[in-house]
Amino acid sequence: MLAPQSSLSKSERMTRSGHAEISRSRGGIVTNAETKHLEVALQAKRQEIASKICGRVGDLGIGCGEGDILDRIQSMADRDETAAMLSRLSSTLVDIDRSLRAMSEGSYGVCTRCGEPIAIKRLQVIPWAAYCVRCQERFESANECTRSKFYGGEAA
Ligand SMILES: [Zn+2]
Repeated sequence: MLAPQSSLSKSERMTRSGHAEISRSRGGIVTNAETKHLEVALQAKRQEIASKICGRVGDLGIGCGEGDILDRIQSMADRDETAAMLSRLSSTLVDIDRSLRAMSEGSYGVCTRCGEPIAIKRLQVIPWAAYCVRCQERFESANECTRSKFYGGEAA
């Protein structure tokens, strides 16, 4: 006969309204709902790239198996433009797989370079982003100015 008002409000507090409430765990700036949404986006992108790779791989006359396809692409990466494109697609695929793994480990949304959280707006555009905006900008400007500075290895 007693209406347990208190227990009801307690369970209400458990239900997150979806916004404002963010995970306090290390680097967790992405809500569960957002993660779910981004995971779906990643899976879709993964499918898209995989089928693109399969189509292109057909052009090159090498088989399309799921397992060691990345290895095979890697070994012929500098053969021609198609191979270069495949290489780019496969590296995105690697990023996507890394992001999906990070999601299952709860470390998704953290910059792999500096460890700072990646802005959700950025993740919504590029769900597989590995770097935060700052690191990405530094990477790109280094790429633009002097590639040798970044990759050359001779300049200290
Ligand atoms: Zn960073």
